Amino acid sequence: MTKLKIANLDGRPEIFHSIQGEGKNMGQPSVFIRTSLCNLHCIWCDTDYTWNWEKTRFAHVKDEDPAYKKYQMDKMIISLTLEEIYEEVAKTGCKNIVLTGGEPMMQLQELSALIEFFNSKADDYFFEIETNGTLLPDATFEALIDQYNVSPKLANSNNPKKLREKPAAYEYFSTNEKAVFKFVISSENDLTEVLNICTTYKIPNQKVYLMPEGTNPEALKNKQQWLIEVCKKHQFHYTDRLHVHIYGDKRGV
Ligand code: SF4
Repeated sequence: MTKLKIANLDGRPEIFHSIQGEGKNMGQPSVFIRTSLCNLHCIWCDTDYTWNWEKTRFAHVKDEDPAYKKYQMDKMIISLTLEEIYEEVAKTGCKNIVLTGGEPMMQLQELSALIEFFNSKADDYFFEIETNGTLLPDATFEALIDQYNVSPKLANSNNPKKLREKPAAYEYFSTNEKAVFKFVISSENDLTEVLNICTTYKIPNQKVYLMPEGTNPEALKNKQQWLIEVCKKHQFHYTDRLHVHIYGDKRGV
């Protein structure tokens, strides 16, 4: 029986009805399904409970906090059947589904089965996936997914370049009509890196969304003006982070 590994939010699977806070579909009411597991280990990751397991050597900014402990993997994953996930989502009546993580593409076959299951119930579901852009989809998944929100990680993530930058995957998404790219920008260095990535992998500027780094409205506001000028100059899209304005860095909302 197909099961998906979902992040555990205080004893229940992290599946929640909210709005898409950023990128192409910003403002769209959506149900978020947060899968567990990630193949990267960003030092500032705010969903570190999907991968920062006990006995791993990965660094995290919270390591400085004496109260911070790595997570017990078996306690942070809830395995759900397709039916169980469907029941949870169907309660909301929402048809825009965001597959997020962690890195959801680590469970590609299970996600394909999930989308097929939903499509057997109704024909107007829209599935978007948030991915770090390091993994390639297979033909089945490609045919099923409606939108890729590709969010490549930069040097500031502390992941080695050979792990975070996968040329074949970047090239694939660069020419894929369903894909848009999102970058979180906190400095000029980040911007230089983004411009290099766009040039190297021929990512059209119209496919690119830049958003300011920050986990509170003040921090976003401080970078807003500068980043909007950057977007005007390069014909990138600017995107806010609505969920930060509304909820701060609270989980499951
Ligand atoms: S890719 Fe995303 S989920 Fe994975 S470690 Fe980085 S920020 Fe966290």
